[in-house]
Amino acid sequence: MRAIKSVQQNYTPSPEILRMLDEFRKMMNTCIQVGLVENLTSLKALTRRAYRQLAAYDTMSYYKICAISQATGILRNYRKAGRKNPETKQPYARRPQLTTCYGFKIRTKERLLQLPFKPKQPLPIPLNAHVLRVLAEPEIQIRSVTLTEEQLSISYAKEVKPIQPHGLIAIDRNLDNLTAADSDGRLTRWNLAKATEIKALYREIRSHMQRNDARIRRRVTEKYGRKQREKVKQILHDASKQIVLDAKRRQFGIVMEKLTGIRKLYRKGNWQGRDYRGMMNSWSYHELQHQIEYKAQWEGLQVIYVNPAGTSAKCSICGCRMKPEENRTLKCQSCRVSVDRDVNAARNILARGMRLTPIALPLEAIVREPQRQPWKSMDAS
Ligand SMILES: [Zn+2]
Repeated sequence: MRAIKSVQQNYTPSPEILRMLDEFRKMMNTCIQVGLVENLTSLKALTRRAYRQLAAYDTMSYYKICAISQATGILRNYRKAGRKNPETKQPYARRPQLTTCYGFKIRTKERLLQLPFKPKQPLPIPLNAHVLRVLAEPEIQIRSVTLTEEQLSISYAKEVKPIQPHGLIAIDRNLDNLTAADSDGRLTRWNLAKATEIKALYREIRSHMQRNDARIRRRVTEKYGRKQREKVKQILHDASKQIVLDAKRRQFGIVMEKLTGIRKLYRKGNWQGRDYRGMMNSWSYHELQHQIEYKAQWEGLQVIYVNPAGTSAKCSICGCRMKPEENRTLKCQSCRVSVDRDVNAARNILARGMRLTPIALPLEAIVREPQRQPWKSMDAS
């Protein structure tokens, strides 16, 4: 199994690099236009149609090929989104950026990334200690480099041996916490209230902006939005790291709900504002899942997605409908048990995961006392 990760750092682009980022953005938009007009989403077809149009750009062919490939991905996403929502806006790359899979070199000794610029004339970008440490991990292959105006990101991969899970840990994500229930009967909770506070603060900044100029407003919004997304990301990184470390120590697989659009968020009562809050929550739910998934796969741990329907409304013991009570608890109408609603949801997710996955149980769990059979009790009477 091939697992993929990436590492980021901030950097200050030189004027040449800034020009390259903007050229790349323009090339992507050219390719996107060709793809939209001719209704193409395959890399081969787009290469055939778009490559010649890129002749006007004075840039190395590495970048042309990569711009076509990036545009292909965007066109595919657009087509997929368009099927669900016909009003999806046509894609257009606004921010300068660049991705390349070819021609770059990482010079560990010189602590540099060399970006192809002109033949035998690469552009150097200094790499920081964190990035160099991460890339020193044995048996990894560097895949690509992505640059924006502030950040560079290096993607790398390695072959991992999948681990047969010895148990499962199910994660239920809520606005303010993460609740985990595992097949050993353990419950764990991570507080995410800090992430919610950051979002609230950002909303306030945004609501105080008086500027009427839509362009300035959008730029300010983007800037603060990026900053607070980075902060929320960091909080999620701490939680996802702990979850995966714990799963790795015990060789457990991880079960999560398959997030389908906004449905789950809506039922959890989180979709309150129409635009920003909903978008932000939806983003952070997906971001957390994404983090857990790639970190788990890097360790060879299995990640299982289950259908989310009813996980928070049904009793995790008997499957009957639950009635909401005070303090986020639910009471089962049938077995009369009161339970925290996040714990109940996590247990339901766990039960669905257990049905889907064979677990390599330790021997003592398999060799257990034979269960009493109903006909035996009938014999006794
Ligand atoms: Zn029940």
